[in-house]
Amino acid sequence: MRTIAANLQGVKSRIERCARAAGRDPRDIVLVAVTKTFGPDAIRAAYDAGQRDFGESYAQEATGKLPALADLAIVWHFIGPIQSNKTRPIAESFDWVHSIDRAKIAERLSAQRPAGRAPLQVCIEVNVSGEASKAGVAPDAAPALAAAVARLPNLRLRGLMAIPEPTPDGALQRRRFDRLRELKDALNRDGLALDTLSMGMSDDFEAAIAAGSTIVRIGTAIFGARAVT
Ligand SMILES: *Cc1c(COP(=O)(O)O)cnc(C)c1O
Repeated sequence: MRTIAANLQGVKSRIERCARAAGRDPRDIVLVAVTKTFGPDAIRAAYDAGQRDFGESYAQEATGKLPALADLAIVWHFIGPIQSNKTRPIAESFDWVHSIDRAKIAERLSAQRPAGRAPLQVCIEVNVSGEASKAGVAPDAAPALAAAVARLPNLRLRGLMAIPEPTPDGALQRRRFDRLRELKDALNRDGLALDTLSMGMSDDFEAAIAAGSTIVRIGTAIFGARAVT
């Protein structure tokens, strides 16, 4: 558990260095600690080291873990693929959803958001590397989806998210992150007010920050390798 605190500090220093190298204020970048497959003890260790934003990818796993952590002031981010029969627990338990890729999911989340809670803060997931297997809306279809999501009463559209296909080619990595930023800028020119780019994981967050990321989602570099399930 001491390792988690040390890793967290190391990641924060890297974020800070990289932000400054890009001429950015490190406070403009939120670190989401991704805890899928890790139990409540690991989450508490990171929390005790000052971490407040946590991300989960599987609705069922997350809803099993959350009750044991209800005493902590955590901001919960849902970052995984969403099946339409799993929207209710996500709408009820999370503060953010990064992975909206179709209107039906957004409509269900808005309808199921409990009355009296703040709107769900959401991002649209965009497939910037264009493989058939990856989640996310095609860049061409993002404007129509963004317009539909922005109209829903209990969601607040904050920005875009991407999980580019891993590549050792740094220039290609950078182009994909740039593409997401350009898409956000184009949507803002069309009248939206997006302030969020959720991009960057353990292996590519430095390139993502250089390209303008405002949320990095990091698991392995904080908690270690996940067991293969
Ligand atoms: C697991 C996951 C991450 C974290 O990945 P690491 O490589 O462990 O940092 C980030 N984003 C999403 C959507 C994930 O599912």
